[in-house]
Amino acid sequence: METPAARGTLQEFEAEIESYLSENCLKNESDEVRCRWCWTKTEFKVCYVSIHTTAFDNCSGSGRVKQIPIPYCPNCETEPTQDRSCVHLSPAEELY
Ligand SMILES: [Zn+2]
Repeated sequence: METPAARGTLQEFEAEIESYLSENCLKNESDEVRCRWCWTKTEFKVCYVSIHTTAFDNCSGSGRVKQIPIPYCPNCETEPTQDRSCVHLSPAEELY
């Protein structure tokens, strides 16, 4: 999958990854995640997701970054090109 673009919440960002996994991947008997279509082992590329605040219009915030692995099939897809993305949280959520 391609790295999701900016999202309103981390949950939305993670839900996008969850839906990719449920639509495109299956686990084999040894619990390895594999591509549903070609049975290649699913790979993960770490994406750096910056936590920004909705208090400002531009991408700024606390500077906190979360590393989220982005799944992709090296046979059916190319590696995710974006290794950075961001989520925009309200100032209260951002502190949490
Ligand atoms: Zn595949």
